[in-house]
Amino acid sequence: MAKLNKCSFCGCSQFEVKRLIAGDEGVFICDRCVAMCVEALSQEFSEFMQHGESSDEANLNVIDPQQQNETFKFGCKNPTDIREMLDEYIIGQEMAKKTLSVAVYNHYKRLSSEGIAETGCEQKIPDDLRDVEVEKSNILLVGPTGCGKTLLAQTLAKALDVPFAIADATTLTEAGYVGEDVENIILRLIQAADYNVKKAECGIVYVDEIDKIGRTTDNVSISRDVSGEGVQQALLKMLEGTICNVPPKGGRKHPEQEYIKVDTRNILFICGGAFSDLEKIVKERVGKKVLGFNVDDGQSKGKSENILHSLQAEDLIKFGLIPEFVGRLPAVSVLDDLTKEDLKNVLLSTKNAIIKQYAKLLAMDGIKLTITDDAIDEIAEHALKMKTGARALRSTLESLMLDIMYNAPKQQDVAEVIVNKAVFLKEAEPTFVKK
Ligand code: ADP
Repeated sequence: MAKLNKCSFCGCSQFEVKRLIAGDEGVFICDRCVAMCVEALSQEFSEFMQHGESSDEANLNVIDPQQQNETFKFGCKNPTDIREMLDEYIIGQEMAKKTLSVAVYNHYKRLSSEGIAETGCEQKIPDDLRDVEVEKSNILLVGPTGCGKTLLAQTLAKALDVPFAIADATTLTEAGYVGEDVENIILRLIQAADYNVKKAECGIVYVDEIDKIGRTTDNVSISRDVSGEGVQQALLKMLEGTICNVPPKGGRKHPEQEYIKVDTRNILFICGGAFSDLEKIVKERVGKKVLGFNVDDGQSKGKSENILHSLQAEDLIKFGLIPEFVGRLPAVSVLDDLTKEDLKNVLLSTKNAIIKQYAKLLAMDGIKLTITDDAIDEIAEHALKMKTGARALRSTLESLMLDIMYNAPKQQDVAEVIVNKAVFLKEAEPTFVKK
């Protein structure tokens, strides 16, 4: 006897419905269930049209046509204001702060002169300069690990009105390889602009670890890192200004997908990287004793000469960046290794100084934290030897404070905890001062 087919949703047999549509492996749906699905989906769609929708994808698919002619208002900050803000959070790195402050200010001015945004820094432009197009100056930050490159970018993000996104170049690969497409960087910016594409087109992007996409050798003909160069080519197009197709959900692009079109002409790119061994290339060219990123023998008396201050475009090309890419990063800023004094200041004196953070945590348990000067000195000395810049400070403090933080909540009668050098060297226990 022939098998009786039934709707897999409502269970009605083929004789009870007008139409039964077959799917894979004995799955069926009847005309009534299809009608119900259509109704449910169209209701959802009309609700979305009325009230908007919060999912990322929906936001991206429905882009308000009025956006196309929108002019934005961004509160422009002048270079000294931006610099002041950076000073609150970042120790040293004076040149980088200055370069970034000016670049960001110029970025605001470009937006104004192109008529894309009102930034409050519009002045009357003389007639003979009206048609002059101001090119954007993307920035390259070169500095060792833990010297504050990412922190500079993050602090800028806080200070600025324009959308700001941070991306990591190591996750990017050339199309066809496993990894993210370069366009995902722009997706982050769109997210930072609350899915307003036009606003994102005025934004700033920080691309970290840019040195990791360099070719591994400057000998192009024999062996080269093709994927690295491919990523550079793709990034180059964005840096120059292109209409890029951004996959709405990120990840890899695929042919059937609909893309969001974003014009990158007015997006400012800041790229940062450690460029280890770059100093050797500069030294070779300059023919001088290399001091590079290294702080003098752990006994820092002050800043040693950083050979990277003599960095030129040709050194970056030798390192593995393609010439066109280097050409699109005209403002190069070299960040210095942090000295012992700088490290002490990172511990103590910035707005979010690491010790202030621990002091706040303990204050919530009603305990005052005192770390003596000799302990601070020893911690900075220890971090200096680890050669990972200020990154070492956090891990050092984390292990120093672990027992104290663990025991603090149950110490009802303690008013203060004192940590000195001997505690840091594990030769003594912290002193708990009773109330
Ligand atoms: P990188 O240069 O490798 O990007 P980061 O900016 O990520 O280094 O620094 C790591 C951490 O070290 C920061 O979160 C911050 O706490 C601290 N730090 C690094 N450099 C500085 C600095 N110049 N001033 C203040 N804190 C710093």
